[in-house]
Amino acid sequence: MRVDSLPLAPQFVDHFREEGIEELYPPQAAAVEAGVCEGDNVVAAIPTASGKTFVAELGLLTADGPGLYICPLRALAREKYEEFDALPGVDVGISTGDYDSAASDLADHDVVVATSEKVDSAIRNGADWVADLACVVVDEVHLLGEAERGPTLEVTLATLRRRAGDAQVVALSATVDNPEAVAAWLDAELVESEWRPVDLRTGVYAEASVRFDDDTELAVDGIDVDDPASEADAEATAALVRDAVANGGQALAFVRSRREAERLADRLRQAGLAEAAGIGVEAAAVAEEVRDAGGTDVGERLAESAAWGVAFHHAGLRSEHRAVVENAFRDRRLAVICATPTLAAGVNVPARRVVVRDQQRYTGTGTEWLPVLEVHQMCGRAGRPHLDPYGEAVLVGDADDRDELWTRYVEGESEAVESQLRDRAALRTHTLALVATGIAGSQAGVLDALGGTFYASRTPNPDLGGVVGDVIAELIDMDMLEPDGDGIAATPLGSQVSRQYVKPATGRDLVAGIRTAAAMDPGDVTALTALELVCSTPDMHDTYLGERERAAMYQFAREHDAEFTTGMREADDFEAWLESVKTARILAEWVEGATAEELVEGYRIGPGDLESRIERAEWLLGAAEAIADVVDVELPALESTRERLVPEGAAPDETVESVDPNS
Ligand code: ADP
Repeated sequence: MRVDSLPLAPQFVDHFREEGIEELYPPQAAAVEAGVCEGDNVVAAIPTASGKTFVAELGLLTADGPGLYICPLRALAREKYEEFDALPGVDVGISTGDYDSAASDLADHDVVVATSEKVDSAIRNGADWVADLACVVVDEVHLLGEAERGPTLEVTLATLRRRAGDAQVVALSATVDNPEAVAAWLDAELVESEWRPVDLRTGVYAEASVRFDDDTELAVDGIDVDDPASEADAEATAALVRDAVANGGQALAFVRSRREAERLADRLRQAGLAEAAGIGVEAAAVAEEVRDAGGTDVGERLAESAAWGVAFHHAGLRSEHRAVVENAFRDRRLAVICATPTLAAGVNVPARRVVVRDQQRYTGTGTEWLPVLEVHQMCGRAGRPHLDPYGEAVLVGDADDRDELWTRYVEGESEAVESQLRDRAALRTHTLALVATGIAGSQAGVLDALGGTFYASRTPNPDLGGVVGDVIAELIDMDMLEPDGDGIAATPLGSQVSRQYVKPATGRDLVAGIRTAAAMDPGDVTALTALELVCSTPDMHDTYLGERERAAMYQFAREHDAEFTTGMREADDFEAWLESVKTARILAEWVEGATAEELVEGYRIGPGDLESRIERAEWLLGAAEAIADVVDVELPALESTRERLVPEGAAPDETVESVDPNS
């Protein structure tokens, strides 16, 4: 099937031709046959790199009205925005932050790219524009199965379908075990395919050789099989990476932790990879770009490593550093990235060879196997279209676990996607939102709205009545809902909590903290007070508190007891509270003018962790201000602290883009 045979305006056919897209890939042709150009709902469960973006574009460009593209991460939203913006004559908008607005300015675009949280929050803030949508594309729809974000995605989609009843839905999924369930929910045709533009072979390494699923073997040289197990894994990974680069490819190596990613990069440094890849000059330039993006210790280590053609990538890095690494790798100015699994869920960084060194992760009490879906996402990064003759994914094991790895990940299928909506905290959030936005005005109304969710479609008799009843009682108790005639309505507090996009439990904690602070001696109410108040809510990320820091943090908490809204003896979970004191302390030093380097050094957190906590604190302080208004309490420390969190002269766009509760 040819692009010029599709119902697309000539300028789009020309645009795609320039992009090298003239003949449709088989899964794309199947999507056309399923009606993606005719406004029909389509679920495409197809591998990475099989051309999902084009399927999305077919839906968006043939729809009779504005389109919305929902994706899970800010970095991905940016990537898609740039791709769509290149389409001739198409006006594209992007929205990923600023959770208390209806984003009405988005109404004027042909296509809007947004994260699911942003769409959810825009709906809560009364976004009328969603009713006019003609096409909704959902990327990575398999994330329905994720505990934190899944419920938001399914409720948002159910609401969108209710609000924009005629809108076409195009859902893009990784290959999962039950795509037909997602298709049934969305009344969609299913396109399911294993087809890939570049062949992928997957294998397991053990004892100096890799056995692939196409029955080939690869001997790996330079391995000392008598190395202790931990070293043997690292050595084999390094050898597999060197081999890929020596043969003209790039490699991605996945390990379990940030530390391991940096250690592996260190190990590879001296391997002459930049020279082998012929990118010595380019790699030196990447090192400079890393330095230009801002200096911290870890940034400097990254720059030094990049100069050797090797980068590491993990959530502890500043987002700008991550972006430099991703772009440089895509442009083939780096030979290798040593990464934690988060890279596999993010932006598009294909490589000739993917090496998955660690297939287990720590759970706190032990280790568990990574989900098959996650490992397949990593492996799916192998094979760069138009560049590699084939892609290779290698799971590093040993004689003992070779068979287990083979059955589990090479032969094994990805898990099924299951709804997480029954989770009580998720239901509390969404019940409040449904009532506060006027979608539901009674328990029956909430149940009716939830009837459009994936959960309801998967459960023969969705038995949500009992738990929704309990959740409504809790919300009445929290003063967020109130009886209203025969039904229920949101209180001003409930409405504000929903609009500010914080969890009801956070709203409750903020109200209590604000009232306590207002009753304190004004001399005791400091930036630390405001920060402890927001850092102890469920919407702030935890900050790891090491055993060695604990005594000092305890001492700090004692000394500043009078400034806290939670007394030391009142905390329900003392350890968790002490961790939030650590977060608050770091942020308090930040507003007092400490530099990122000092904080990173002094508290052993990554620059990326600091960045995300500053963003969250800014969002939560803003929410606290709005909530203080509703409960009629004046607490100037909230606003003054929030203003000091964002350094003067920061681009306003950055502050708007910055809040993402799930990134
Ligand atoms: P994914 O399925 O991972 O989202 P993309 O949509 O990003 O994959 O496509 C991967 C690459 O394949 C892109 O570079 C894209 O331009 C290219 N591509 C997509 N469809 C075709 C096609 N029909 N012919 C040639 N190249 C294509």
